[in-house]
Amino acid sequence: MAGLFTLAVVCTRLTPQSNITRTASDRVLWPMFWHRACVVTTEPGMAVVMSEPGLIVLGSGPAGMAAAEAFRERRDDEPVRVLTADVDMPYFRPPLSKEFLRGDTDDVAMYPSSWFTENNVDINLDTRVTEVDVHAHAVTAAGIRHPYSHLILAGGSSPQPPAIPGGELALTLRSLQDARELRDVARRASSAVVIGGGFIGCEAAASIAARGVPVTLVAPDDLPQQRRLGTEAGRKLLRLVENSGVRFVGGAHVQEIGSDAVVLEGGVTLDTDLVLAATGVAPQGDLASQAGLSVVDSRIVVDAHMSTSHPDVYAAGDSALATNSTAGRPITIEHWQDASDQGAVAGACAAGAEDDWAEVPGFWTTIGADTVKYHAWGDGYERSRLIEHDDGFTVWYEAGGAVVGVLTHNADDDYDLGEKLIHAARPAPVAM
Ligand SMILES: Cc1cc2nc3c(=O)[nH]c(=O)nc-3n(C[C@H](O)[C@H](O)[C@H](O)COP(=O)(O)OP(=O)(O)OC[C@H]3O[C@@H](n4cnc5c(N)ncnc54)[C@H](O)[C@@H]3O)c2cc1C
Repeated sequence: MAGLFTLAVVCTRLTPQSNITRTASDRVLWPMFWHRACVVTTEPGMAVVMSEPGLIVLGSGPAGMAAAEAFRERRDDEPVRVLTADVDMPYFRPPLSKEFLRGDTDDVAMYPSSWFTENNVDINLDTRVTEVDVHAHAVTAAGIRHPYSHLILAGGSSPQPPAIPGGELALTLRSLQDARELRDVARRASSAVVIGGGFIGCEAAASIAARGVPVTLVAPDDLPQQRRLGTEAGRKLLRLVENSGVRFVGGAHVQEIGSDAVVLEGGVTLDTDLVLAATGVAPQGDLASQAGLSVVDSRIVVDAHMSTSHPDVYAAGDSALATNSTAGRPITIEHWQDASDQGAVAGACAAGAEDDWAEVPGFWTTIGADTVKYHAWGDGYERSRLIEHDDGFTVWYEAGGAVVGVLTHNADDDYDLGEKLIHAARPAPVAM
């Protein structure tokens, strides 16, 4: 057949050494589960693999992996394949700006290496999905077409370098590969500038400072997280940032990044040999949008069961705009545990179970030696009240007479109570 090479693979004769398919060139090493009656067809520039459809998961973060686990727990008769752009086996992202960056640990793996074989989950690293065809029930990655019975989109977010001259010179931090590069540069740096006063900026600045590198954190707000959490919380966070040895420069806008300096609007120049931009992320909604799924502000719209606007397609995690069944409205989250919770719901529902996302979102952040905990719907508040404790604080947030958020430092009872009050839409336990 001119220009076309068709290879029929008798799959049972293959002896896969591992369930891990590292690159597209290793693609014959499909695990046994995926092997039944597969036919590989290639032609120049385009290769098509047809295999028995199963669950395809896009992304190996907490949402994607929880989805794969939840599906596999309920269905041991269907193939499960994770396609991920990541070059590393699944890992915990939160330590990347904390213990890993400080140099306290290298161990961030989510699973022991045997987990994939034991659970019959096939993972394809360094494999970016480039097309989703919901009508054909197939995705394309590295020129290979993967048919699916159910698809879970869990592509997360990608960091956005600042849109200023020299913005591309700044390092960003999302993947383990990014973290390795940042840690290597920090090892040699004589000073650092971190741009962005969000939690990742504060955490990373504190961790670089803990390595003995003088760090300046520049942010447009006068105080860290001021717009999101208010002035009183911002003052508290500023104290934690400064306690960690970081110099905070608020109300500052970066004009330009050079090879060895950051120039602020107004002419101040900060000499530095490490620039980290923690200036926000963009949810990965493009493929879904091109496939005709409902997408709002780059997030894939899903209901409380993580179902998209197309049957058999689910989305979860940072790339999803999911309805929380307790809140009764769509909630935007960018937290590890919530991405995992949503992924578990998506995987369970894809396997035919009943489940919905009902938890109150929450996360912990560690700035130097201090941990701050936060539960909130995250879509605004009308009033806030700071309560001082001997060695910590609580900030209560209310809207419409009900608690909608709680931020705590060394006040775990309030953190736990806050979650219950938010869930039940009850008032704060203090006068607001
Ligand atoms: C440095 C850092 C520290 C953090 N610390 C905390 C913390 O302390 N607490 C907390 O709650 N949250 C924290 N977060 C946020 C948390 O990690 C995210 O909310 C969470 O990882 C989102 O999970 P996800 O599965 O939706 O996406 P991700 O974890 O971003 O995973 C997305 C996956 O999709 C893959 N992918 C993307 N596009 C494609 C494609 N086209 N084809 C194939 N694969 C693709 C990516 O390679 C990746 O594997 C932190 C984030 C970072 C970056």
